Amino acid sequence: MPLVSMKEILEDAKKRQYAVGCFNAVNLDMTRGVLEAASELKAPVILCHAEVHFKYTPIEKLAPVLVNEARLADVPVALLLDHGKSFSAVMKAMHLGFNAVMYDGSDLPYDQNVKNTREVVKIARVLGVDVEAELGHVVRPKSAGADGDEDDSVAGDESYYTQPDQALEFVSNTGVDALAVAFGTAHGVYLKKPVLDLDRLNKIRQTVDVPLVMHGGSGLDATDFRNSIANGITKVNYYTGMAKYAAEHMKEKLNADNGILLYHNIMMESILAIKENVMQAMDLFGCAGKA
Ligand SMILES: [Zn+2]
Repeated sequence: MPLVSMKEILEDAKKRQYAVGCFNAVNLDMTRGVLEAASELKAPVILCHAEVHFKYTPIEKLAPVLVNEARLADVPVALLLDHGKSFSAVMKAMHLGFNAVMYDGSDLPYDQNVKNTREVVKIARVLGVDVEAELGHVVRPKSAGADGDEDDSVAGDESYYTQPDQALEFVSNTGVDALAVAFGTAHGVYLKKPVLDLDRLNKIRQTVDVPLVMHGGSGLDATDFRNSIANGITKVNYYTGMAKYAAEHMKEKLNADNGILLYHNIMMESILAIKENVMQAMDLFGCAGKA
């Protein structure tokens, strides 16, 4: 089916109080794993490619694959640029057929974040593309395996958390369709066990009316996910957990295999591992059966 707008997908999630999974795919195999999981569970899904992953697969090479796979899917799929930090990445994604972009100015001063986000929204509106932005900052520590460049001490630092009043001002000044918020999660593998500020999340939910997004969920336990969704999260970005799961699965498979191993065996195993892990995530997020 044609791409479905992220806004539409998230509005249903908000209304029915579940969260939609947003999964990064860096190649066809990951894309197939994610979409096979969505199809099997009848779950709406958001496929994404992050600017930080362009070094693994340039967006020019991957976009046609993602667009085509999304159209072949029998469940609603939105296609999002994840963490677009440069204007050029955001423009390229829109040009290459993504129907949603995340502009991430969360490490800029507030006024600059507002200004840049507004500019992206202005262009996106003309093209019918939905926009996610980030206020507060979900950290990306150096040692966490998520291509981060921040000092490890940023993990758990509350000065990065989203402030509810500022979130309201930000959303009305920019016109974004979804907002990524910081309340204790971090990108990559957790360096220390996170403590989620659910009161803050709930306050933001009561203050702003756009769908709220959680980044950095890999490594949270099931209760953390359920609590976050109950307190207003309607989109969960998920990558490190599945990337790690698939890599561990391959290590086991490669060690256990005494016969002839060919590249396509690895490929099929990786699709299967991604699918398994994404299905677990979808069950947890509550989006299974919602398509
Ligand atoms: Zn993220």
